[in-house]
Amino acid sequence: MQEYDVAVVGGGPIGGYVAKEIAHEGFKVAIFEEHEQIGTPLKCAGLVTSRVFDFLDFPKELVVQNKIKGAHIHSPLGNTLTIGGDRVHALVIDRPMFDKEIIKCSIEKGAEVFLENKAISAKKHEDHVELKTSQNNVVKCRLLVGADGPLSKTRE
Ligand SMILES: Cc1cc2nc3c(=O)[nH]c(=O)nc-3n(C[C@H](O)[C@H](O)[C@H](O)COP(=O)(O)OP(=O)(O)OC[C@H]3O[C@@H](n4cnc5c(N)ncnc54)[C@H](O)[C@@H]3O)c2cc1C
Repeated sequence: MQEYDVAVVGGGPIGGYVAKEIAHEGFKVAIFEEHEQIGTPLKCAGLVTSRVFDFLDFPKELVVQNKIKGAHIHSPLGNTLTIGGDRVHALVIDRPMFDKEIIKCSIEKGAEVFLENKAISAKKHEDHVELKTSQNNVVKCRLLVGADGPLSKTRE
């Protein structure tokens, strides 16, 4: 049985960010990600506000592919509405790279990452939670973080 202060289910941007912040405080943290690679399969259009980078420790140039200043909206009747102007409203990011960079930052702070490890059960005990993964890993942690996306099973 492996022991961690915190086990994070999900190696997406939230899991990576939370793990980085907690590992930075000196706690022993592990991330369990079901897929074999961070960032894939891609399920995001990759549009973000530039404020996202206020929270991150890597330069936005690493992942930004384009800047959005406006849009042309075409109606079925053939009318066009143009919005926006000179100001940048959104950034287009390389989302798989974005996720990987966040995880890299968490590793730099000491977090451990286990790929191809789907969380399959979690049981709450008096002073800890026991997590089991698809690789037969049994993990004892003081805190379990469900960062497994909008359809989180951990939350349930
Ligand atoms: C089609 C689409 C387009 C989108 N476009 C945008 C956009 O343009 N801009 C924007 O800001 N947001 C967009 N979103 C939303 C955005 O993708 C999410 O808000 C964001 O990914 C949430 O991050 P997260 O870390 O909470 O979850 P996720 O990115 O979903 O990460 C969860 C991670 O947990 C893993 N996981 C799940 N279950 C388990 C388990 N049992 N065990 C181990 N690992 C597990 C998954 O593999 C995944 O890596 C879009 C979403 C969709 C579906």
